[in-house]
Amino acid sequence: MKCIDEFELKDKRVLCRFDYNVPLDESQNIVEDSRIKASLPTINHALSEGAKVIIASHLGRPKGKRVPELSLAPVARRLSQLLSKDVKFLPDCIGDDVRREVEAMSRGDVIVLENLRFYKEETDNEDKFARQLASLADVYINDAFGNAHRSHASNVGIVRHVKECGIGFLMKNELEYFSKALENPVRPLVAVLGGSKVSEKLGAVENLSRIADKIIVGGGMAYTFLKAMDIDVGRSIVEEDLIDDARRGMEQARDKGVKLYFPVDTVAASKIDLEADFKIVTAQEIPPDLMGLDIGPATAILFKTALENARTVVWNGPMGVFELEPFAKGTYAVARAIGRVRGLTIIGGGDTDAAVRKAGEEDNVTFISTGGGAFLWLLQGKKLPSMLALEEKEQAQT
Ligand code: AMP
Repeated sequence: MKCIDEFELKDKRVLCRFDYNVPLDESQNIVEDSRIKASLPTINHALSEGAKVIIASHLGRPKGKRVPELSLAPVARRLSQLLSKDVKFLPDCIGDDVRREVEAMSRGDVIVLENLRFYKEETDNEDKFARQLASLADVYINDAFGNAHRSHASNVGIVRHVKECGIGFLMKNELEYFSKALENPVRPLVAVLGGSKVSEKLGAVENLSRIADKIIVGGGMAYTFLKAMDIDVGRSIVEEDLIDDARRGMEQARDKGVKLYFPVDTVAASKIDLEADFKIVTAQEIPPDLMGLDIGPATAILFKTALENARTVVWNGPMGVFELEPFAKGTYAVARAIGRVRGLTIIGGGDTDAAVRKAGEEDNVTFISTGGGAFLWLLQGKKLPSMLALEEKEQAQT
């Protein structure tokens, strides 16, 4: 796939699709701007090459309606500060006014378009909408890894209608780290999976069974696997309809010689509450009225020991309800263990990212991905639809 530095950009209108889905507070102040910062190398490159830069993104889930609280105006203001230059915000992303503004751009100008998802045509991947966006661009650059697993107009449909299409530096980085970790890993490769939703992660377990040397399963998802081993897990979160699939996933992994690790103890409480009494119990003896909300100290040591000889690690999903301090220790312990690994360590998913930062380990891991869903998609061994669209276009052009 062609990267932005392989295009001639001088005086061209370069439409960059970023993922500026940043958290905002009630007054629309940006709480955390790492996604905006992550886009700067691509923007600065385009500017240094003399391009006119048009930026498109989504923010939140306005579901095809104009929701003022989800405007990208604050993002445009923040971007202007980060670039130390004027950034013009347009209150729409398609239409005659937008086209006129883009036509009036000079070399080095930056425009931010309004939230793409104010149109339901964006998430419907509607062709007319894709064509309208495409009409703003000579070159289209997809740098929105966080959205790369979606088939939307601004990252799939548009590709058909712009002659020159490629990826930005952020996307390139994400894909390169991923292929280093999963296509040709330095072994042992250890995958660590947590979080609450087995339904989203079972595919990852199956795919990683073909690739990884060890799979460590913690978090809420572990209880469906424990139940599949006929262990009573009390009121812990279990996806009953996936117990058979979980059992099959474990069998597959064992058939491939993958070492599987599950919690041997757990921090159990009657409710997910800061004030709840909790106790540490073995995974075999979770009382019927309690639920497991974190891995216990023995499990933390087990997982740490399993990670000690790792040379490549991918991690998605916290080990417990880490948002509440009493149930955060297991996640921090795993973050520290991964921070100590001498090798390539890749972290993905908003919660995992937050947990690593809370644990103060962000400088000790190799790469923190900007994608949650897209990261999981790759762990499942699936091709990202937006990258497929670019690949197909390139093949058709050669
Ligand atoms: P996911 O979106 O599947 O990655 O899940 C992340 C969420 O899982 C976090 O908000 C955690 O609080 C939650 N979580 C982790 N462990 C547990 C658990 N044992 N029981 C319930 N929720 C959990």
